[in-house]
Amino acid sequence: MARITFHGAARTVTGSKYLLEADGASVLVDCGMFQGLKELRLKNWEPTPFDAKSLDAVVLTHAHLDHTGFLPRVVKQGFRGKVYCSPATAKLAELILLDSAKIQGYDAKYANKKGFSKHKPALPLYDSQDVETTVKQFRETPRGKWFCPAEPIWMRYHDAGHLLGSNMIEVEIRNQDPPLRVLFSGDVGRYDGPLYHDPSAPPDCDYLICESTYGNRDHPEVDLLGTLAEVVGRSVERGGVMLMASFAIGRAQQLIYLLQVLKKENRIPDLPIYLDSPMSCNATSIYKEHREDHDLSEGELDDEHPILAGPRVHLCRSTDESKALNRLKGPAIIISSSGMMTGGRIVHHLKRRLPHAENTVVLGGYMARGTRGRRMQEGAETIRMHGIDVPVRAAVEMVSGLSGHADRSDLLRWLQPISNPKQVFLTHGESDSADALAEELRTTRNWKVRVPDLGETHELT
Ligand SMILES: [Zn+2]
Repeated sequence: MARITFHGAARTVTGSKYLLEADGASVLVDCGMFQGLKELRLKNWEPTPFDAKSLDAVVLTHAHLDHTGFLPRVVKQGFRGKVYCSPATAKLAELILLDSAKIQGYDAKYANKKGFSKHKPALPLYDSQDVETTVKQFRETPRGKWFCPAEPIWMRYHDAGHLLGSNMIEVEIRNQDPPLRVLFSGDVGRYDGPLYHDPSAPPDCDYLICESTYGNRDHPEVDLLGTLAEVVGRSVERGGVMLMASFAIGRAQQLIYLLQVLKKENRIPDLPIYLDSPMSCNATSIYKEHREDHDLSEGELDDEHPILAGPRVHLCRSTDESKALNRLKGPAIIISSSGMMTGGRIVHHLKRRLPHAENTVVLGGYMARGTRGRRMQEGAETIRMHGIDVPVRAAVEMVSGLSGHADRSDLLRWLQPISNPKQVFLTHGESDSADALAEELRTTRNWKVRVPDLGETHELT
């Protein structure tokens, strides 16, 4: 007997946490933070719905905060087991978690200083010391090899093509013959997307836990480079600064890569690019170390012609370097995080740049409900930051081809090889997306599909 409980990413896109139990073993797949709407963020503060001390192991699909950001909290609560992850995920997750601890510490301090927090005093979920403890529990695990986080649960990683080091997880619960097969899709990448491989074909399974971020829509057929060139062109005409909100890891590298390609092809002027995120600045070397994870050639990564760096790409690591950007005159490009503008250095740039019409704010990828990014996407006239309503006078541009997520057609294509699962669970999507994909799969594949609610448990037989 085995069972699964959905402790996150249930009818929402953040907080991925799936507890898999069999014969007394309990393994948590992903340990993400809830982000976006306040009611979701507050969930991070509720009592953890499982006993952190009694977990045998945590297994990560990839490094993004919505899949790893709660891990130091669980460690703080006494989890001492191993955390399995790919080698690239180990490096990226360390950066992401340290950054998260820093942002939380900073936000808490700022909230205390300005007195706008309801919690007195405002506290972080964890600090950098908790992150240091967490990363010591990482066990770098290669793709394609079976490993056993806790008997009778065996697992094997396959490339998900969503981010450097991203994986799907094939599971065999080997207390019966034949073993019960479970598949966690993780975040599924795109076919023919820039920088990353195509997602691997999924192995067949009895139970499938599949993401559904874009379950109800396709990415528009856009010529990504062409669109980006036009957006940059319009920004140059306005003469101001072009501010690109980006996940610090993955997206930022993708943006620099695309901008550099456009410069090389003389489709945009050789504008200075400022990468304002200490975490992003450390990522290029990680890309160099993990060539198995992306499509860049040796030539594109060597020190003579580095496509992710170059003389007009400025890395802003220190706070002073970041603050100096306040005086920056356009045309120029600032890439900063967080991707949905929920925190990080981008908030300060927005505060400064949004009220002026010569500037451009570029939104790329998925913006969850409740985030500043979503509000801007929906045309809000003001955006609240640090307790102030800042007017949106800058041009807001959307570049949609940047998503690292499979769209509806990609998901259906990825699901094609799976023959006849006993049950499919759709997670990591807001209700409209997940329900639409569920209906599609019921109709076209005749599958039993469930969109679980938060905290829902299912027996796997
Ligand atoms: Zn992700």
